[in-house]
Amino acid sequence: MDKIVKTDAEWRAQLSDLAYKVARKHGTERPFSHDDFPKGPGTFRCICCDAPLFDAASKFDSGTGWPSFFQPLDAQAVGETTDRSFFMRRTEVHCARCEAHLGHVFPDGPAPTGLRYCMNGVALRFQPKPD
Ligand SMILES: [Zn+2]
Repeated sequence: MDKIVKTDAEWRAQLSDLAYKVARKHGTERPFSHDDFPKGPGTFRCICCDAPLFDAASKFDSGTGWPSFFQPLDAQAVGETTDRSFFMRRTEVHCARCEAHLGHVFPDGPAPTGLRYCMNGVALRFQPKPD
């Protein structure tokens, strides 16, 4: 997979203010601000580079107000790093292609993986599956 690298100015020009803050500056959107995606089948893509990241079939209602998934579309689609900010040890999740910050993964998700990918909705674009 080819990495996508752009300058800060290029990302800023391409993205909304909030998407830029979240995806490029490791921000976090407010809960319940961007979890109103359509319920049907489809693919969640990276807001920065359009890489397919999550299948709608792996989305579940976590009650947190952030879009939550129990697995990525493909193990290669996302990368993970240890995030020690705010005195917590969390696992940060980013787009493997462009390194957009997406959210964090926690070990308290549902079967079959037991994982909860807690994502910022503003970092994702939903593409409904064509009929
Ligand atoms: Zn990306």
